[in-house]
Amino acid sequence: MAGNVSSPSNNPETTADNVTPLGQANASAQPRPAATDGPEGIDLAQYTDHRGFAGNDNPFDDGGVEMLLDLHILLEALVEDGYISQRQAEDILIAPRTKRELSMHPLEIIASREYENRRFGNKSLDLETLTLWLCARSGQDYHRIDPLKINVNAATEVMSYAFAQRHNILALEVADDYVVIATGQPYMVQWEGMLTQTLRGRRIRRVVCNPADLTRYQLEFYTISRSAQKAQESGMEVSGITNLEQMLELGGLKSPEANDAHVVNIVDWLLQYAFDQRASDIHIEPRRDKGLIRFRIDGILHHVYELPSAVNTAVTSRLKILGRMDVAEKRRPQDGRVKTVSQDGTEIELRLSTLPTAFGEKMVMRIFDPDVLLRSFSELGLAGEDHQRWHNMTHAANGIVLVTGPTGSGKTTTLYSTLKQLATDEVNVCTIEDPIEMVEPAFNQMQVQPNIDVTFASGVRALMRQDPDIIMVGEIRDLETAEMAIQAALTGHLVISTLHTNDAPTAVTRMLDLGVPAYMIKATVLGVMAQRLVRTLCPHCKVEEPVDKEAWQLLTRPFRVKQPPRVYAPKGCLECRDTGYMGRVGIYEIMPMSEKVSGLVKTEIELDELRKTAFGEGMRTLRLSGAQKVGAGLTTIAEVLRVAPNSQDL
Ligand SMILES: [Zn+2]
Repeated sequence: MAGNVSSPSNNPETTADNVTPLGQANASAQPRPAATDGPEGIDLAQYTDHRGFAGNDNPFDDGGVEMLLDLHILLEALVEDGYISQRQAEDILIAPRTKRELSMHPLEIIASREYENRRFGNKSLDLETLTLWLCARSGQDYHRIDPLKINVNAATEVMSYAFAQRHNILALEVADDYVVIATGQPYMVQWEGMLTQTLRGRRIRRVVCNPADLTRYQLEFYTISRSAQKAQESGMEVSGITNLEQMLELGGLKSPEANDAHVVNIVDWLLQYAFDQRASDIHIEPRRDKGLIRFRIDGILHHVYELPSAVNTAVTSRLKILGRMDVAEKRRPQDGRVKTVSQDGTEIELRLSTLPTAFGEKMVMRIFDPDVLLRSFSELGLAGEDHQRWHNMTHAANGIVLVTGPTGSGKTTTLYSTLKQLATDEVNVCTIEDPIEMVEPAFNQMQVQPNIDVTFASGVRALMRQDPDIIMVGEIRDLETAEMAIQAALTGHLVISTLHTNDAPTAVTRMLDLGVPAYMIKATVLGVMAQRLVRTLCPHCKVEEPVDKEAWQLLTRPFRVKQPPRVYAPKGCLECRDTGYMGRVGIYEIMPMSEKVSGLVKTEIELDELRKTAFGEGMRTLRLSGAQKVGAGLTTIAEVLRVAPNSQDL
């Protein structure tokens, strides 16, 4: 479904040019902001020993006549700067051009050879490096396109697709007094003069970018903005999107796919784009006068795109159809589910939910990437002694194992990954979940449905008649569910479930609070694991820094832990969208219900004593588990302090 987003059939029409060259003003004569020493923090000087090409005599500067980059001249200059050998350059020159190569940028042809970078020995000569070199050689600013930072509507209004294509350029930013335009051809300048006419006094800031990115985003941006525009136009012809919906209500007089290919295009693009950007959620929000699309990436929302209100409604409707939801129903929240295949062939599941808001129906799609939900324990950051403890608890024949933490602390991933390991052919693994986050063929999964009286408790009761070995209960939030879980454990089943508590010891208090007698807890609970997710430092840009002694003590107290020789701080680069972090890993506090710990479980429980005893038996706090990750250079003290609760003063 979400494939082929950038197939040529989606090509925007290459018809009328909206840029007409008038007069003779020449933008290139206007003062440009001086090239800083490495826009985006990159020191371009290291990429070349020469300015211009072939020494000081710039072969492209042919008295103001435009020049396209020439493979021969580029190769010569690359040899001169020590990137490739003479022999390699000749190899490329004499090789016959394939049909595809004829339409490629010369730097793409060179990059496709994947030569070793002779100047910087450690990596291959890729297109990005070649682009940086081209910038250094031509003395022009470098820019790496981050599609999430671009206002697509504004950018595509600067010029027509035909004009952008013909001149190999793309607008990236439209400010009040300037426009940033990217090109892969530093010696093409004619377009500046033509474009100036339509910019109403804005200056042109020229940057050079990776030619492959340029082609890709040029096509994507114009396709999506044209689809949005066409969808709006077609919607207006039939007096608003409501008509489309009424038609669907009548039982599909016309298939919606055939009816509005533009909306289909937008949805396909949106999904593929979200997968590419590693987004975990897609928000489609109606606002007063427009629709807003945002992605959540590594826990933070990013503004992606704006749609006209009518198109926004049509996109939501299309997704509701895909999710088999009631398209006509807009006043009640609804849930749905869609399975799709990303371009690289991974099956991805999406959970859809709608909510009526003041300006219309808001939709949120949670993306369940099986690679994220099912991970190995080492990927989860569960290693060494902790992993051994978890293994021991979950390999018992019967009893209750609890995972605690707030929403978004990675409990589901831990449960799925653990169950997946336990689900062999010899055992029956059943789950009752609210909702089912990922459909896993190895489990028998059931979803809580309060409207037909399928609750956690009644679900467990039903599962018990299904000859289960292992039961996963999504969450224990009432006494009835707790009692069912205990009954299952007492009758020889392993029950794995979650609780909302801050740390491992308070799980016991929580069970008591629900009304479970202490002796029942002692008889069934095998252990508790509390967990949190901390963001991991971006490996591309993290920087060493000295350890802040006070912060380290705050992190590790009440224990005395040797300070690591060095820690790392986030910096921010293009790879991590300037956040300094990339991906997340778990930190854990594991409390097995040992004889000693169990002995302290009573109605008037002494939580501090319980905690102290557990520490005595080797339990580490969440913060201590985090300290280990800090010492390993994976995350920062601040990040652990942010997500992990206070260690208790003992
Ligand atoms: Zn980074």
